[in-house]
Amino acid sequence: MKSLTIQVRLTAWYFLSLSVIVALLAGGSWFAMKASMYHSIDRDLRYRVESVVPFIESHSLNTQEQFSKVFAGSSDSSIVGVFVQVTDEHSSILYESDLLLAHRVPVLPPGQSNGLVSITTVGTRGWPVRVASKRLTVGSTSLTVHIVEPLRDLMESLREYGLYLTLLIPIALLLTTTAGYWISRRALAPVEQIRNQADSIDPADLAARLRVPPTQDELAKLAQTLNAMLARIEAAFRSIERFTADASHELRAPLALILTAGEVSLRRERTKEELAEVLRKIVREARHMSNLVENLLDLARGDARRRHTELVPVDLAGMLRDLCAELTPSAAAKGLSLAANLTDDEVRVMGEATELRRLFLILADNAIKYTEAGSILLSLTSNSRHVNVTVSDTGIGIEEAALPHVFDRFWRADKVRSRTEGGAGLGLSLASQIIQRHGGTISVLSDFGHGSSFTVQLPAIAVSQISS
Ligand code: ADP
Repeated sequence: MKSLTIQVRLTAWYFLSLSVIVALLAGGSWFAMKASMYHSIDRDLRYRVESVVPFIESHSLNTQEQFSKVFAGSSDSSIVGVFVQVTDEHSSILYESDLLLAHRVPVLPPGQSNGLVSITTVGTRGWPVRVASKRLTVGSTSLTVHIVEPLRDLMESLREYGLYLTLLIPIALLLTTTAGYWISRRALAPVEQIRNQADSIDPADLAARLRVPPTQDELAKLAQTLNAMLARIEAAFRSIERFTADASHELRAPLALILTAGEVSLRRERTKEELAEVLRKIVREARHMSNLVENLLDLARGDARRRHTELVPVDLAGMLRDLCAELTPSAAAKGLSLAANLTDDEVRVMGEATELRRLFLILADNAIKYTEAGSILLSLTSNSRHVNVTVSDTGIGIEEAALPHVFDRFWRADKVRSRTEGGAGLGLSLASQIIQRHGGTISVLSDFGHGSSFTVQLPAIAVSQISS
């Protein structure tokens, strides 16, 4: 069943359900027809009983002789053409129509003692009849009048009707199933088209898209969804391309510097001091490259979600206090003041201490790097749901148009400046990756030329997590 096409399965289900419905309908219609025919016969029989009984009463018929005399010769409309059997209380026949005699209709049982008309079917061999019986008393004799209607015609009609149904239903089923197969084929044709198109897409052509059918149906939506997926794949691929190009570019610059420094110093004899200077340059560039490679590796690991960071409660206030003390000398070296606005109490979040330290180091380091004069402030606030850490400076600021890009990989407002400071534009990308892993967010506000402030928001520790 698994290997059957949808089209065949649809048709099979269609055929099955249709067969059941049609069989039920046909059976129902046959029974309804039978019931309606019996109903009409019964009505007719009652009507006849009601006209024969007054005739017998008015003629006071209660002996065999009287019946054969009056019935046989009568041209009364209530008698003519009616098949009658009249029996007395001893179940002996007082009168019987010739047709009933000829078909050997047995002696019929007496009617209900309350005088109401009772109707039954009596199945004489091969000649079933419908009988309406009514009991009446004529003189001192109790009689039952049985009006009989042969059922042969009715049976024949029902048999014919059943035959038509059994012949016509398979033909109808065959026709509708063929139509169903054709319809499902038409309906599924666009799926086949989409599949063919998808097959023919060249893997190298990332811009290729499927043709969306002009209809607004499920297939159009399927094509749109697949196109959206292709667009996402293209975007991801382009970003990897860009990233690789940027990374190679970033690595080429220090490599070129190292090569040039080495080659130039090899051209002629150098003094010890000159060689030491070249080596210092080479070491600086190599360190820069090493940092870059380290950051790239971290980003790649983060991307692949290979780092399953184990989150434990971490005291942020203590961490920021230590960080502040650590960075004060480098801030002071630039003539900057570094202050921290922290609470004395512990403020804990669920996190990975080394990563969080790295995050705040990146922000504080940037603040020092991009501030010429003034101050840098680390502040910590918290409420029941969030913990906010803001690193603000009075530095060069970031242009408003550039703000959406600061977290992009390799993005730098001023490449030359950033490079001399040792940055490759990966710090904030790493920072935002760390924040994402901690379920937090980062936002930046900046007044170009006057300073910036980066705010990290992390989820506050839940009561259940404290106890664990
Ligand atoms: P970099 O290594 O270049 O510092 P980052 O990703 O940390 O890389 O920062 C990207 C760019 O954002 C920086 O080159 C700089 O132009 C800008 N930037 C980051 N922090 C600040 C700040 N505190 N003040 C001004 N500009 C900043």
